[in-house]
Amino acid sequence: MIIPDSIWMIFLFALGAIVGSFLNVVVYRIPRELSIVRPGSFCPSCRHPIVWYDNIPILAWFYLGGKCRHCGAGFSIRYALVEFLTAVLFVGLYWAYFRMGVRRVLPAFEQGGWLVYAGHIILLCVLFASSLIDGEHWIIPLSISYTAAVAGCLLSMFWPYWQTSPESQYWQIIPYASAKSGACALGAFLGLIIGIILLNAGLIKRSFVQLLEMEEANRQSGDKETSNKPVEDDIEINIRQEMFYEIVFLMPSVVLGLIFMWILGSDGRIGQWWQQVIVQQKWLAGLLGSVFGFMIGGGVVWATRILGSLSFGREAMGLGDVHLMAAVGAVLGWVSPTIAFFVAPFFGLGWAVMRLVLHRSREIPYGPFLSMGTVVVMLLHDPIVDYFVQYFTYNHGPGP
Ligand SMILES: [Zn+2]
Repeated sequence: MIIPDSIWMIFLFALGAIVGSFLNVVVYRIPRELSIVRPGSFCPSCRHPIVWYDNIPILAWFYLGGKCRHCGAGFSIRYALVEFLTAVLFVGLYWAYFRMGVRRVLPAFEQGGWLVYAGHIILLCVLFASSLIDGEHWIIPLSISYTAAVAGCLLSMFWPYWQTSPESQYWQIIPYASAKSGACALGAFLGLIIGIILLNAGLIKRSFVQLLEMEEANRQSGDKETSNKPVEDDIEINIRQEMFYEIVFLMPSVVLGLIFMWILGSDGRIGQWWQQVIVQQKWLAGLLGSVFGFMIGGGVVWATRILGSLSFGREAMGLGDVHLMAAVGAVLGWVSPTIAFFVAPFFGLGWAVMRLVLHRSREIPYGPFLSMGTVVVMLLHDPIVDYFVQYFTYNHGPGP
């Protein structure tokens, strides 16, 4: 039986509204370090639990007149707006992928397309929630980014078993490693684990320790106001020193990534064995594709952070941005976050000009612009890839 498009879209709109309601909980509670499971929804003013019929996404705000049923305190329309926008995202992605067909390799929704849709809608929700939190609190919680990264790994592991397209086209829709990129991802990932072990063992130093300690002290003193503001201006930090710590942490990852690529990606016996493994174990090729995307997506931002911080003498780009783009890479593969990263400044620039006109000098969080850049790349992925493929074949020609 074929379910008509319109039924899917009504269903997805409702599902999106419910997920949006959950995103409201995430956006409110995670930065405040509260559990997202317990307790159930309550009024932030009188703490009275909100019963299910007062908690219907989008609609409840209107029939309650934007007020708490018990104490009459006003609820921001923002909650209903987030629910509505999430519902629009759910329908919009379906529309773009399965009606407009912006991604050519994607099969029909019922024939495995839903799996890609599920992975990508989780990413969109993560980008949306991160942007809302970043805009308000100046942080991007790592737990949110990791949700998308895990979803991306699962998607690329299972997708090959649903595929209808030839293997050479997988990379256009999911992260899918070649022998070389897979080897590099494996080495880089091992290096990352080594780095984390060394960090936790205290053998290498953590960057911005004073800053973390100060934030922790702020939090313990219950001074919510100061803990939400950047405090780096108040303490002295040697930015070169801090960046040196981060470079040391990243070293094992870079070195092992290159060594693995060199050994496993060679034409020798080990290389041939690895080539076979990658061809036969499709789940591994998918998983390593996600890991490679994670490393490159995060690596591009981290490299920019280090170079930017060293040249401007102050912290450029947060580690939250690094993890966000790493997650984008795990879901979309390494090409998308790399391009999105260069698209993002254009959105940031427009916003900055607007703020300048409005005479607001405060710095702007970068997460929302990275998110917008990512959405653009999700929609324009095929033309962008075509452009680069053409560009490079034109310049280098199909020479020997
Ligand atoms: Zn109330």
